[in-house]
Amino acid sequence: MKNIAKKAAAFALAFTLLGTGTAVTKTFSPTSDTSITASAACYHSAGQPRAEYGEWTATGKKKLIICPVVRYEKQYKRTITYRCSSCGKTLYTVPEYKWQWAI
Ligand SMILES: [Zn+2]
Repeated sequence: MKNIAKKAAAFALAFTLLGTGTAVTKTFSPTSDTSITASAACYHSAGQPRAEYGEWTATGKKKLIICPVVRYEKQYKRTITYRCSSCGKTLYTVPEYKWQWAI
C-alpha cells in the first residue's frame, strides 16, 4: 500500500514536470517569440546612456543683433541621441539649438 502511494506520487510529480516542460517550450519558442525575448533581455538600465552628437545644420532662421555691433546670427540645430550603454538601442533624442555669428 505504501509503495503504491509512493509510485502514485512519483507519477504525479513526473506528470507535473512534463506538463511544465511542455508549457515552457511553447512559451519561449525562439522562432515565434524573437522580438519579445530580445526586448526582455535588456532593461536599458546599465550605467549612463551613451550620447551621440549629430552634425550642426542650419535651420534657416536668422536674427539681427544690434548690440554691441550690428550683425546677423544664424540658428543651427543638432540632435543628441542617447543610446543604451548595454545594447545600443536608442532611448531618446534631444534637439539642441545654438546661434552663431554669421558674417
Ligand atoms: Zn539596452
